Amino acid sequence: MAGDKTFTMVKPDAVLNQHTGAIIDLILQEGFKIKALKMTQLSVEQAKEFYAVHNDKPFFDSLISYMSSGPIFSIILEKENCVETFRDFIGATNPADAAEGTIRSLYGTSIEHNAVHGSDSDENATIESDFHFSAEERY
Ligand code: UDP
Ligand code: MG
Repeated sequence: MAGDKTFTMVKPDAVLNQHTGAIIDLILQEGFKIKALKMTQLSVEQAKEFYAVHNDKPFFDSLISYMSSGPIFSIILEKENCVETFRDFIGATNPADAAEGTIRSLYGTSIEHNAVHGSDSDENATIESDFHFSAEERY
């Protein structure tokens, strides 16, 4: 059965360009509930751990440098069938391929600077939420 939570980040490009409020507003309008939220900045080591699955990819070094370059917002969301629904809502990895009206289409500027993260499975949603939040930080 599909889980009811996912993990997202508003990435450094979107925070830098002052899109955080608009993005969170769209997420709430879509019916996702915020269970945890904080502004933080990933160290290089933390970014490497978070994206470890991509460590053999050609874009890894650039991704790590980008994701540790500035503040992000880490968020746990709740909704029915949350992982899949949220991935559909943010759109394809490359904003150029993302469906009209999706977050990445609206606010992403390149395949790397694509405004938001979304967990790709219930298992990873749990792992990524635990990476960013303690039990006391969730509501
Ligand atoms: N990324 C990139 N170049 C690529 C593919 C991905 O810079 O060719 C970045 C992009 O920021 C993406 C992240 O690496 O969101 C993780 O890639 P993944 O394939 O997991 O995409 P996602 O699950 O975020 O859609
Ligand atoms: Mg992914």
